[in-house]
Amino acid sequence: MFSAAKQGESFTYTCWSRQSMLTGLMYHRPEDPLAFLENCLQKTRELGGPECVAWDTFIMPDRKPLPPITTAQGKKAPCKLDSGPGPGPGPGLGPYRRYDRLPPIQAQFSIESDSDMTESSGLIQEYDVFDPLKPRPHIIFIIGGPGSGKGTQTAKIAAHYDFECVSVGEILRNQLLQHAPSDRKWELIAQIIANGELAPQETTIEELKHQFIKKQDAKGFIVDGFPREISQVFTFEEQIGSPDLVILLACSNQQLRQRLEKRALQQGRPDDNTHAIEKRLETFKHNITLIAKYYQERGLIIRVDADREEDDIFTDIKAIVKEKLFSNKEEPPAL
Ligand code: ADP
Repeated sequence: MFSAAKQGESFTYTCWSRQSMLTGLMYHRPEDPLAFLENCLQKTRELGGPECVAWDTFIMPDRKPLPPITTAQGKKAPCKLDSGPGPGPGPGLGPYRRYDRLPPIQAQFSIESDSDMTESSGLIQEYDVFDPLKPRPHIIFIIGGPGSGKGTQTAKIAAHYDFECVSVGEILRNQLLQHAPSDRKWELIAQIIANGELAPQETTIEELKHQFIKKQDAKGFIVDGFPREISQVFTFEEQIGSPDLVILLACSNQQLRQRLEKRALQQGRPDDNTHAIEKRLETFKHNITLIAKYYQERGLIIRVDADREEDDIFTDIKAIVKEKLFSNKEEPPAL
């Protein structure tokens, strides 16, 4: 029997290892994904277990380039619509049927094992989040270090453009409040977040998709705090599509620390303790280079100096959104 801390640790390693495999899978797109996964498992065993796996363990240097993204808004074309008889939707029944999926990777310990999320998660994985017959709502990501002002700027843009605001951190905190005392999955996620680490990717993506599905008719979404690691970039693209714009709020470390310390005094968030702050800063520094490079190559990311006053930053962001999203069209009236 594990202690809670031991269990949390084991869960973190297992999740990490699964995310590394997913990253490898998306990077290489092997012709035989099952054989690839078996090799990954073998390599994990040879290395000494999931705790010895790094995010890039399964990215081999001789990878083949990714095929170009050709469909609208960067989303990969679905394999085929399920038009056969049976319970799946046929051609007229709705275009939501998605990819042929890989079987799930069986982990020794899955956080979903005793969760009530399993059934609906499976459904959402199987079907499109947005109706492909309608124009997809705009999607903007706001990324930046902890304390860079993502939440503040997200709220301002959402209000200005009448977009829906989606804060991954806030969704997770709300879920923790509701479920953590009685649900083992959320209890473990509470420990992970309080420790300054990233919540499991499968949970994060599912929560995001729930928000999109709930607000299908939104003109646009502005997502705060996503993606935070390269595997989230790939998974989002695979399951939802490409964002229209990524705004990076760039702040000095000193500024970030000062803001977080101030917020700790004002709000008392459990992850604004010294250890978690350092861990979050370190995770951000570690992950941002690859994320920024990926979006840079696709011409999607704009860096904004976020060491300045809120209103000055917002003025710049408004101009960027206008140019990137509304350059050929009339900008919606400011609210
Ligand atoms: P901050 O940006 O200051 O870290 P947030 O409220 O955005 O604050 O996030 C709080 C915590 O929620 C993060 O430290 C992390 O544990 C979790 N979290 C937020 N976004 C993500 C994400 N995209 N993936 C995984 N965990 C996340």
